[in-house]
Amino acid sequence: MDSQDAAMRPIEDECFPEGDQYLNARKALENATEELARNALPKMGKKLPKVLEALGDTLSIAERVSSCWWGCSQGTHTIEYMLGSVVSTALASLRLLLAGFYDESLALTRSIAERANLLFLLNGRSEELARWESASARDRRQQFSPVRVRLRLEELGHTPPTDQDRYKALSERGVHPGARPQVFNHGQRAVSAGIFQPAGLAVALNELARAVALAVGIGVFPLEHLPLDMRKGLQSRVLPLAGSVGGATVLEVEEFLARIDWQRPAG
Ligand SMILES: [Zn+2]
Repeated sequence: MDSQDAAMRPIEDECFPEGDQYLNARKALENATEELARNALPKMGKKLPKVLEALGDTLSIAERVSSCWWGCSQGTHTIEYMLGSVVSTALASLRLLLAGFYDESLALTRSIAERANLLFLLNGRSEELARWESASARDRRQQFSPVRVRLRLEELGHTPPTDQDRYKALSERGVHPGARPQVFNHGQRAVSAGIFQPAGLAVALNELARAVALAVGIGVFPLEHLPLDMRKGLQSRVLPLAGSVGGATVLEVEEFLARIDWQRPAG
């Protein structure tokens, strides 16, 4: 900001940072929120304190299978690429939710949930995998859109791992315009991102854990170059993450808020 701009600033704006100062203040807020979140997590019920450790185990497995650590299929790496993007998207979602960007974390988690549905469709169906691999980017977007994948699974007699209600709830919070931002509080107040909200932390972390457990638990199975016993072993190592998903989810934010005794310290 040059001196002419500075001279034009209303007096009440002089104490509000701009430029680098604004970004640095934001970064300091995010760091403080992450520290609050990490201090609060061990006291947030029975399941939630176990999520980070289990998430780290599962993402470590996914990183190794996606990078051919245990052997290379010498194939198209379609499944490996999907699992690799589950890892990077999950790590980004985790950074966001710890820093108080709960809606934005849910938006990324939604794309992991989409991949879990797609992996469920492709697993054990070589004709679907061949169709996916031979489709142009445009055809793929149409034929394997999230809704088409859900409908195809239903046609085949399966309940999609992420059904329409959950997908809609993730979209309304994280993606679609119109919703009030970061509403994870008793008064349904819109809140600036980067402010610590325990319910936001719980909901975003549970949804991330759920989506990652599904995507990796399903996604290790189509990797047929690995022995079946090994794939079953890897899947069993994802179970603690699935078991750590608690009741605070994007489908029940209001109910969760109503259940919390706000007068009682967490723990
Ligand atoms: Zn490979």
